[in-house]
This record gives sequence, structure tokens and C-alpha cells, in this order.
Amino acid sequence: MILSYVAPFDCESEDAWFRTFPYVQATDPSSSEIRERAFIQHYTALVGGGTVEKIGEMEVEALKRRTRRSSKIFEEASKWMPYGVNSNYRYLDPYPLYFAKGQGSKLWDADGNEYTDFNMAFGALGVGHAHPTLVKAMQDQVGNGTIFGFEGEDVAPLAKTICQRFLVDMVKLSSTGLESTMHAVRLARAYTKRKKILKFEGCYHGSHDTLMVNVKPTLPKTGNSTVPNIVPSSQGMLEEILQNTIVAQFNNLESVERSVRKDKDNLAGVILEPIPMNMGFVPPRKGFLEALRHLCDETGALLIFDEVKTCGKFYHGVEGEFGVTPDLKTMGKAIGGGYPLSVLGGKQKIMDAIVPGVVAHAGTFNSNPVAVRAGLVTLTEILTREKLAQAAKLGEELARGYTDIIEDAKLKAKVQAIGVSGTMHFTDHEVTDWRSFLDVNVGTWWTYYTAMLNRGVIPMATGPDEQWTVSVQHTKADIENHLEVFKTVVKELLRSEVSMEMVEAI
Ligand code: PLP
Repeated sequence: MILSYVAPFDCESEDAWFRTFPYVQATDPSSSEIRERAFIQHYTALVGGGTVEKIGEMEVEALKRRTRRSSKIFEEASKWMPYGVNSNYRYLDPYPLYFAKGQGSKLWDADGNEYTDFNMAFGALGVGHAHPTLVKAMQDQVGNGTIFGFEGEDVAPLAKTICQRFLVDMVKLSSTGLESTMHAVRLARAYTKRKKILKFEGCYHGSHDTLMVNVKPTLPKTGNSTVPNIVPSSQGMLEEILQNTIVAQFNNLESVERSVRKDKDNLAGVILEPIPMNMGFVPPRKGFLEALRHLCDETGALLIFDEVKTCGKFYHGVEGEFGVTPDLKTMGKAIGGGYPLSVLGGKQKIMDAIVPGVVAHAGTFNSNPVAVRAGLVTLTEILTREKLAQAAKLGEELARGYTDIIEDAKLKAKVQAIGVSGTMHFTDHEVTDWRSFLDVNVGTWWTYYTAMLNRGVIPMATGPDEQWTVSVQHTKADIENHLEVFKTVVKELLRSEVSMEMVEAI
């Protein structure tokens, strides 16, 4: 039961011991202390007697030793791709990790290290890695062709399933979340014959220009007022486009009221993540969604829920949880079971405008038979009401465990979570909007993340503004191991100080 790591220096080399460390599955009640002692002893040897301030440094040293192949791949990839990644969010100091395999709740990196994965592809894998039902369905589908250039026979059953489950009348399918929100904005403008779109600071809707505004602005740029300055999230965005985006603070009706005051008659749509998951995990305040519904009814603007992240995490999406009905919904990520499938859905009278000669909608890979089959199998056989409820129970256990550990340790952190997802924000107050998120200690998050990786757990998606996802393939043992590892890491966090800043870049 007790493992070789209790005598780390008996290994033929430090590296040999180090490689075994993340695989350790503790089953003995005293093992967490043993693990911690061995770990700290080992680090001390590595850095020549680390002081408490060196904990971040020690963790990164450990990471580098465990992930040499990732470092080499990064070096090579960076020659051909800026930063060596294809989504800037995947970059992490000192370099991004590269992965070889996923199965169930586990991932293996290029060096062969095993991790229990709670990133789950930024929430796109509610089904977990390589779900056997989906693997079989995909093997069958690939053998029958991957793209037809015509609609496939599964599109109608999938569209019907999505409409009935997510409470919309009609849908149009595409591949990425970006496309769904881009189409939603265009449709809102066409339907209302107006220009302005209101979005919320800290909400992310994909990397297209209209909505890539005030995603992660710094306070000096966004300003202290309740009406934020408009801050583009990238160079190359045209000022003329930005002029038609209005920004307000989430959960703040005064900010909404003041931001739209002079544009009420020209307001085409209000788009939001109804539970923002790009500034950690931020539930809407009681009455906030209802007030936005009221504002839209009053002004004639369309209310658009961006459910790209949330639709796979609640059986009927956020509407099912909070009872507020938007005019349009965008969906993506988990509903495709890890395949590129996104959806724009809504009321029939609005969706009816998406026809040739009125509102454009096109895409070579839209509704390809692989993604469509994946969506159908995912929604009808895997992310069922029952399985999601089981995963949500585990998610709640994880959130409770985190809360208990940080309370016992008196760590400056707050857990915000519902069901399968949640975030531990490294701050002493509730996070309700982007401004309150800005106090989060990025250095502590990075130390936490790196230390958890070193112990074989990817605790959440990459970034303090992200969250964990519990999939239908996670087990109780995965949750217990996650918490056991965090109990060790929390002691390091109490003694570490790493200074880091959030970079506003997508
Ligand atoms: N909307 C939300 C809420 C998201 O979180 C994301 C991506 O993280 C998107 C839209 C864009 O989706 P995609 O990355 O598939 O384009």
C-alpha cells in the first residue's frame, strides 16, 4: 500500500524518483504527510535549500524536470507558430504542456506523466476523454464519410433534440462558439434594424471583433466609473466597429442603465454569459437576468444568452436554472462531445430571418456528419439528465472540499460553484463582476496550478479566470484524490509569494 516515494533518494536518480511522484495514488491515511515530507525534502535538495519565498521557483523547477519533452516540443513549435500554441489561452509560463493521450478522466502528457484532468478542454468535454459510446459511434461514422457537402440524415433529429432540450424553437448549426455569437450579433442587428450591442466587462464570446472588447481590461484602461471605457482586446480592431459596442458591468443594473441611456433606441441586442465563466465563476445576482429581460422588452432589443460554456453543464442550460427566457441562445463546447459543433437557436419569428437574401449563414464544415452524430450521441446517450446530475453531485463535493480546506488553512480564497463547475478565486471577497475579479492574486493561482500539475492533477482550465469541469467519467476517487493533493498544496500557498500580473491579451 505504501509506495516507493517514501524513500525518494533510493531511486537510481532524482529524475527516476521524480517521474514516479505524480502517479502516486495515496491509499494510506498518513500518506499525504509522507508525500509532502518527501516532496519538500526533494525540492530542498534540488534548489539547494529553498526558503519559503522560493516555493514558486521550486515548483517550476519540478515542472521543468518532469516535462522535458514538452519543453523541446515548445522550442520546435515556436519556430513555426508564434508562442507555440494555436489558441493564445493555452500558453502558460514557463511553457505550455503538450499532450499525447486522453482517456476517461485522465490525460497523459508528452513525457508520459499522468494527470487527472479537471480542465476538460475548457469545459468542452463534459463527456470526458474518449467516451467508449462516442468512440464507437465515431468509428462507425468516419467509415461512412466525414463531410458530404450536403446535409446528412442526422441533422433533423439533432436539431429537434437541441430545440426540445434547450427550449428554443429553431436552430442553425456551425462549428465554433465564435461563429455562433458572430451570427447572433448579425441576426440581432438585422432583425431590429439597429446597430448597438451591449456586452459585459469580463465576458468572452469568441475572438471576433464586435465582442472582443473589455474582455480582460486593466483598471487604468477601463476606468473607475460604472460606465467602462471601451477597451479593445487586440490590436487590429477598427475603431468604427468598436463604436457600436457598449459595455457595462455584470450584476450592476446602474451600470447597464447608464451605459445604454443614450443608445436605447439604437440597441439591437444585449449579449451575456448568463453565468460568466471567463472571470472565474460568477453567478448572476437575484433579479439581474430578469432585469435584463425587462430592459430588452422595454427597448425592443434582443436578449442573447451566450451558453457556449453553460449549455453542457446544466441539463436545460441556464434558462432551466434561472427561468429567464432570452430571444436567442448560442451554444457550443460540451454539446459536441469534443467535436466541433455550435448552435445559434431562438424564437422562430427571429430565426426565420436566416434565409438566403436576408441574413447570411454559411460554412463548409457546418453540420458535418461527424460533428452531428457526435452531438446526437452526446445529448441522447451520454449527457443525460441522470448522468449530469451524478457529475453535478461530484462537482458539489469538490466545491465543498475546497471550501473546507481553505477555511481550515485560513487561505485568502473564495469558492464559487454550481453543479459540475466552479472556481477558487484567490481573493477574500465574493467575485461579482470583472472589477471584483481584478483583485485575484495571479501569482498564487499560478503557484497553485503548477503545484497541482506536479502532483498529477490538472485542477481546472488554464487561467485564474477559468473553472474546473467534472465530467460524467470522473469518479468519487478522482474528487478525493484532487482534494487530498490540494491539502498538500494549500500549505505551500500559505508560505509562497509570487508576483505576477494578468496580461490583457487573447
Ligand atoms: N462564448 C463563450 C462563453 C466562451 O467561453 C467561448 C470560448 O471559450 C466562446 C464563446 C468561443 O467559443 P470557441 O472557442 O469555440 O470559438
